[in-house]
Amino acid sequence: MSYVGPDFEPPRPPRRPLRGPLTVAVAALVPGALAGWLVWQAVGDPDDGDGSAAARTSASESASASASPPSSASSSELPGRSDDGKEQGGDGSGSLKGKVVVIDPGHNPGNFRHPSDINRKVNIGTNWKECDTTGTASNAGYTEAEFTLDVSHRLRTILKEEGATVKFTQDGDRPWGPCVDERAEIGNKAGADAVVSIHADGSAAGNRGFHVILPGSVHSGAADTRPIVASSRELGERVAGGFLRTTGGPPSNYIGDGTGLDVRKDLGGLNLSTVPKVFIECGNMRDTKDISRLTSGAWRQKAAEGISEGIVSFLRG
Ligand code: ZN
Repeated sequence: MSYVGPDFEPPRPPRRPLRGPLTVAVAALVPGALAGWLVWQAVGDPDDGDGSAAARTSASESASASASPPSSASSSELPGRSDDGKEQGGDGSGSLKGKVVVIDPGHNPGNFRHPSDINRKVNIGTNWKECDTTGTASNAGYTEAEFTLDVSHRLRTILKEEGATVKFTQDGDRPWGPCVDERAEIGNKAGADAVVSIHADGSAAGNRGFHVILPGSVHSGAADTRPIVASSRELGERVAGGFLRTTGGPPSNYIGDGTGLDVRKDLGGLNLSTVPKVFIECGNMRDTKDISRLTSGAWRQKAAEGISEGIVSFLRG
């Protein structure tokens, strides 16, 4: 999740998309995704019965202020990891040969063991915020950090098959972190053609669905997103379109007014990026309907495929 602590602290001003509904953007950019969107609009979300104002206004920040620690050993403790997760080249045969994609798995399974380290303030250009957070968890203890790594691994496999060079910001292979400023710096130094930060939210039950977070225009201190706002929006719209098509949605019923898109200026990982970058909140780990999807390996594969579809579409131009 994102909305806990550091990189996601309240209060935030009311946010709305900078332009019209996702349908418009997707229509222009991703015909396949548009088809998926229209199908969703036509049939609705069969198991979504709650679009109430109360649900929409529930504060996502409050639900997971204290994320549970993992109930089992974190992946950082597991022996025999076959790669360092730092950088892996594609096979060179796909359409993304020469393209560099940085995947940023939100949080770190070990963060909860290092509160003083992850609570240390770092400069995000506009202000100072905590290095990182623990992330959220389901009511049953499935952690966001475990979820983000799983989706990221699936995404890496697909992108490598497309020929991309893929780099991770972390792979559970370090005790904690990295901090949000370092996460941005990893994408910058890699000269990434696209960066996607993978998350799941920890909002109130009844709040559900995915949304993609785009960088707002920020120019303060070390932060200057002006050169990447437009390209990041294009990346984000395509990722949202792909995700919608492969998972069937729904777009968030509590953020983004149904567009599946949000714009923020308070996230260090976006503020400090000099390359196209978006976050995706794949669903709400505190909602019973969403968590049934997030805990499904088959669903996570579809999620990875959708995100990949958006990245591939963006990179092919
Ligand atoms: Zn998160």
